[in-house]
Amino acid sequence: MIHLEWCKSIPKKVCVFIWRLYHGRFPVRTILDDIGIDLHTLLCPSCNDVIETLNHCFVLCPKVQLVWKRVFEWWGLENIDVFSVQDVLNLPGINSFNGINRERWKAVIWSTLYVIWCNRNQMIFRRNGSMIPDVFKEVQLRSFEWISARSKKDEVKQEEWFGGPIDRV
Ligand SMILES: [Zn+2]
Repeated sequence: MIHLEWCKSIPKKVCVFIWRLYHGRFPVRTILDDIGIDLHTLLCPSCNDVIETLNHCFVLCPKVQLVWKRVFEWWGLENIDVFSVQDVLNLPGINSFNGINRERWKAVIWSTLYVIWCNRNQMIFRRNGSMIPDVFKEVQLRSFEWISARSKKDEVKQEEWFGGPIDRV
């Protein structure tokens, strides 16, 4: 089952991004090629080794796999493998959490997809020449900012958020 109900812990723009991703409306290179846009390469801009499909871009690229691994470890989840955007949108590991942490885990997964996309675009367009140095750290930072701004004061503890793994209770 896809958990596509709106996530209240993150900005609307991220929810809209997820909605588009769910519907496959995404300008990765194979999709642009399919609709007849002429590109000089179809290879993934990150590894330059494999054709950039949706699943490759968001899940299968070796660098992205490492990001997911660190995100799962951060939340104390082991032995989770994801192979497609669908797998990720299914919120793997969600049943390990209760209450507020279910909502937060969903927010973290959605934030991760968003940061992966921002990083991919910076690699292609090199906006301001500013690359994201550590995608995992960026996920921690963004999700903290977003979730804490939408929670009661001091509800999200900075030390715990960045200390990890996240407590399950
Ligand atoms: Zn790649």
